[in-house]
Amino acid sequence: MTDTERPKATNGKAAAEGTGPAVIEVRNPGTGEIVGTVPDQSAREVAAQVRELRLYQPEWEAIGPDGRKEWLLKLQDWLIDNTEHLADVLQSETSKPRADALIDPAFGCDLIGYYARRAAKFLADDHPSPHSPLARVKKLTTVYRPYQVVGVITPWNFPLAMPIMDVIPALAAGAAVILKPSEVTPLSALELARGWAEIGAPPVFAVVTGAGATGAGVVAEADYIQFTGSTATGRKIAAACVERMIPYSLELGGKDPAIVLADADIDRAAHGIAFGGMFNAGQVCISVERVYVEAPVYDEFVAKLTANVKALRQGIDGRDLNHDVGALANENQVSIVQRHVDEAVAAGATVLTGGKRTGQGTFFEPTVLIDVDHSMSCVAEETFGPTLPVMKVADEAEAIRLANDSVYGLSASVWTGDKDRGERVARQLNAGAVNINDVFANLFSYALPMGGWGLSGVGARWGGANGVRKYCRQQAITKPILPTQGKELFWYPYKSSNLLMAVGAMRAAGARGLRRVDLPALLKLRGDSK
Ligand code: NAD
Repeated sequence: MTDTERPKATNGKAAAEGTGPAVIEVRNPGTGEIVGTVPDQSAREVAAQVRELRLYQPEWEAIGPDGRKEWLLKLQDWLIDNTEHLADVLQSETSKPRADALIDPAFGCDLIGYYARRAAKFLADDHPSPHSPLARVKKLTTVYRPYQVVGVITPWNFPLAMPIMDVIPALAAGAAVILKPSEVTPLSALELARGWAEIGAPPVFAVVTGAGATGAGVVAEADYIQFTGSTATGRKIAAACVERMIPYSLELGGKDPAIVLADADIDRAAHGIAFGGMFNAGQVCISVERVYVEAPVYDEFVAKLTANVKALRQGIDGRDLNHDVGALANENQVSIVQRHVDEAVAAGATVLTGGKRTGQGTFFEPTVLIDVDHSMSCVAEETFGPTLPVMKVADEAEAIRLANDSVYGLSASVWTGDKDRGERVARQLNAGAVNINDVFANLFSYALPMGGWGLSGVGARWGGANGVRKYCRQQAITKPILPTQGKELFWYPYKSSNLLMAVGAMRAAGARGLRRVDLPALLKLRGDSK
């Protein structure tokens, strides 16, 4: 069958029932050009792939964290050696500026270095102290043993970095990994799989391509699901995982607030928030999506922010660094962004810059909106595009109240000249991460957990040891310290003297005051109280 005879899907649309294996066309959203095709794999194909992974996982687990470190660091070398090519592929399926495309492989190197080198420490057995003197007769051990196959399902906004974020810690934990990248941008993930094969690593990492049905196939087969994507899909995945009684972790949408206090360095805030709102054309889960500014500095901040956003260069890069902001991922994203702007304007908002498509591909102008409020979709719903709605607030308390008025709670930023004040504000925000006088800093701090509150997620990625331990089942082992002979005190047959000793010892160890040694009360238990 020739390529033209196959049923095709574009940007994730299901292929028509047809005459042969379905394929998905991948397009450059900036130009509309078809840059590749990938198979739309069935649930049956996913199941076969998972079976294959299960064959090799025990050996991967057995070589231990130090054995796995060698392979992960080889992959890191491969990422560095292939950076230019990886950025080319990334740009082809996203129309990102070159600078943005180069970030993904660099980020991957950094993350691999962290988890490859520290996994041995993070996965080492724990020997917790017994909680009471009674338990000191045992040596206690917590063992971290990986789930056999972890399913990682990713969105389209960082086609290489997003898979790496979760695939690497899962591999470092000793699990095999099946990755289902977004149908909109599957090419970079396939490059990652190519790299894994090229370095000759054990076949414990595989990529399957397709849309929602392929993802559902992964959820039906894997032993743990790590999902990043929309809240709507996350909810479906959670329900499917509950049905199978398997654990999951969900990294979902956000509507991150930025709070600019009157004592802030306004130049820094205006640059940082322009970057935080427009990086990757606003298609970042932790993009700044709404801004609250204390009244005394509102006018100055808005003027500076607008100037910074107006100055952004938009267009298609080759290998040169000529532009700051790229295209949106597809027409669906354009229509969400345009709707948010149009609905705001219809309700009285003012567009200070941007507000419409550029006319090329899916490019949308970086946009600043004022005269907005929480009744508008641009403030209440996730936009995932290049818009910055800015609101004036009377004081810090109002800023906190409005920042917390959201169903989401992914991250936030606070801009102030007083770092301690910033931390006091941070501790009152309902968000999984807060950056003071910065944006995205938490994303580059793998020692910290990255997780959303509310509808922004369940669980977290990273957080030092937790980043690999989450992919493990914890096993508790008790081992006698002294030689074991005969029967334990409380084994059958029951005797009142033994009961008395057991209950007395537990009370002595755990209770407080006279209750620890209240012999009459104990005797009452066996009817000896008189
Ligand atoms: P999406 O939910 O549409 O798709 C995400 C992935 O899920 C894709 O691979 C898709 O094919 C797959 N999928 C769809 N239906 C499925 C099903 N029923 N079962 C299994 N898999 C299924 O999200 P998107 O549009 O690709 O990405 C944008 C969203 O991702 C935004 O909401 C953004 O905030 C979120 N996101 C969150 C984070 C984070 O870390 N919190 C990071 C990046 C993006």
